[in-house]
Amino acid sequence: MKSNLFISEQELNEQRRIAADLYREIAPRNLTFFVETFGCQMNVRDSETIRGWLTEIGYSEAAEKESADLILFNTCCVRDHAEKRLMGNIGALKELKDNNPGLIIGVCGCMMQQEGIAKKLLKRFPHVSLIFGTNVLHRIPEMLRAVMNGERIAVTDRANDAIAETLPRLRDNQRSAFVNIMYGCDNYCSYCIVPYVRGHERSRRPENVRNEIESLVSNGITEITLLGQNVNSYGNDGSAGMHFADLLRYVSDVPGLKRLRFMSSHPKDLNEDVMQAIAELPNVCHHVHLPVQSGNNEILRRMNRKYTREHYLSIIERMRTLVPDIEFTTDIIVGFPGETEEAFEDTLSLVETVGFAAAFTFAYSPRQGTVAARMEDQIPESVKKRRLQSLNALQAQKTIENNEKYIGHVGEVLVEGFDERGPETMLYGKYQNFKMVYFPGDPMLLNRYITVQVNKTNKNSLLGEMIHA
Ligand code: SF4
Repeated sequence: MKSNLFISEQELNEQRRIAADLYREIAPRNLTFFVETFGCQMNVRDSETIRGWLTEIGYSEAAEKESADLILFNTCCVRDHAEKRLMGNIGALKELKDNNPGLIIGVCGCMMQQEGIAKKLLKRFPHVSLIFGTNVLHRIPEMLRAVMNGERIAVTDRANDAIAETLPRLRDNQRSAFVNIMYGCDNYCSYCIVPYVRGHERSRRPENVRNEIESLVSNGITEITLLGQNVNSYGNDGSAGMHFADLLRYVSDVPGLKRLRFMSSHPKDLNEDVMQAIAELPNVCHHVHLPVQSGNNEILRRMNRKYTREHYLSIIERMRTLVPDIEFTTDIIVGFPGETEEAFEDTLSLVETVGFAAAFTFAYSPRQGTVAARMEDQIPESVKKRRLQSLNALQAQKTIENNEKYIGHVGEVLVEGFDERGPETMLYGKYQNFKMVYFPGDPMLLNRYITVQVNKTNKNSLLGEMIHA
């Protein structure tokens, strides 16, 4: 086990001491913050910690950025054009800064760990004074103190990727929570920037994961999603003392935990042990988000995905044998370099065969610094667009077919929200296998588990009625 795997308690106490000092200065001034989050659940989770620290430091949350005294953009570098959009967003804040010279503007998140970007931002935008990466969230008090003392700083240090436990967090959601089980990724899929910006895989200790879940459940949370870039490789470096299937077993019996989810899974690591755990543990939800990316073996090889179409299909088959009501969702990239018409047809046929409940589909776009961006035989945009349209049309048809099998289905739904735009108030929420259903009901039922029967379907969703609350 690496000696610097965790940030020391001493270091965290020092940050808590700085936060307490800042609180005495900031709280009496009624200062507010606004954090805008881009990207995936990892960033949503990081923003909870950032908001937690800022609250501990004495800020309260502003309803919109125009009225805030501190604005932070938590950025994502995974999608195309993200940098350009960020530049526009930051540029637009200059006027706010001119009207409020005390305003602190910061940028954080995985994009800040891309080579050279922090320097570029500080140079181009004098109104930005705080930049930090994803691995230094534990140092927010110290960084903020420096900025309040007039410094402009960028802390994007990747040398220390150690895990910080017990950081504060501020959550909006009263029913569901994300819990990180690991950070980073060692897979180096050839199109993906994540391993370069979020570092190598580090797994949290199982007892820390369980403690966090126990604490969330004792505060009323009943649905937990375990988070990692590839949760199935949890513990592969030996540091956690167990693998993912055992972690599921270890945390699933927390009293009061009704639903245990996880994302994302990598097909190469979804082994028999994990499948057995999903089948045997009563509160592990019957849904796997299993990105396939392509249905063609040559493209999968070029993507460095380390599995074949046949292996992927064997997982689907095995899981459906073990857990007949399981649902799969996926991610698919079309127009990857070298993708021939035949290769694309393989993706369509895989989608046809599997029948995903939903698919997140993308036209390939090169990310600077990745292997795929340097590949020859890039596909013309017009071809990517056409393939994406065909894929989406097929998936839309499969979603309708998938929905139709739910007519008459009765099951428990966790109410996530309501829509009052129509003639009657519609509640919505998910069955444990991730299928979303809408049904008429009272908004007072928000966050409750309600038994709902499906009566109808439309293109994307199920429509039902409450059987009992
Ligand atoms: S598994 Fe592949 S796609 Fe997912 S984060 Fe890691 S490198 Fe990126």
